[in-house]
Amino acid sequence: MDTWEALEQTCQSCRECSLWETRKNVVFGVGSRNAEVLFIGEGPGANEDEQGEPFVGRAGKLLDDMLAIIGLKRESVYIANIVKCRPPQNRDPLEVEQDACIGYLRRQAALLRPKIIVCLGRIAATKIIREDFKISREHGQWFEKAGVQMTAVYHPAALLRDPRRRPEAFDDFKALQAKIREICDHTEVD
Ligand code: SF4
Repeated sequence: MDTWEALEQTCQSCRECSLWETRKNVVFGVGSRNAEVLFIGEGPGANEDEQGEPFVGRAGKLLDDMLAIIGLKRESVYIANIVKCRPPQNRDPLEVEQDACIGYLRRQAALLRPKIIVCLGRIAATKIIREDFKISREHGQWFEKAGVQMTAVYHPAALLRDPRRRPEAFDDFKALQAKIREICDHTEVD
């Protein structure tokens, strides 16, 4: 039987793709291992690589603010990325890197068995929801896959680059709040 400890240990020493060569830290994931809501980003940036934790820089602060708006505590959800090591110069993770790493996320999801998955940005949405997912058109919509409710929202870094998208992101988080109220058993929101 898989365990969080075994999975994290394997992940921490992983050299399955070339991103291991430039990483400072493997960014395994953070949050409650009893969470009903799983947030998935694309990969660590410089701050995350430095600290070994996902979403800790400016984008992380914005994510925390969005969570706070709906009264959702970071500690009550789980946050992970498609790739666990930082792509150099913050480029998008290559398909080959995503494919090498996705097994860890699958094992995390299998251990967690979340009721809701929220993809943060296009890369996560195309990997998790549908290959041809269009974030500008389909963010905030809900999809069901294998009994799990899934949605995608703009990546916080995209909201920092283009603040005009924030009202739409706010609506998406309000919809997430409603979905949590509807189907989650122990996740608290305002
Ligand atoms: S990105 Fe994933 S597959 Fe590649 S070395 Fe890091 S942990 Fe291993």
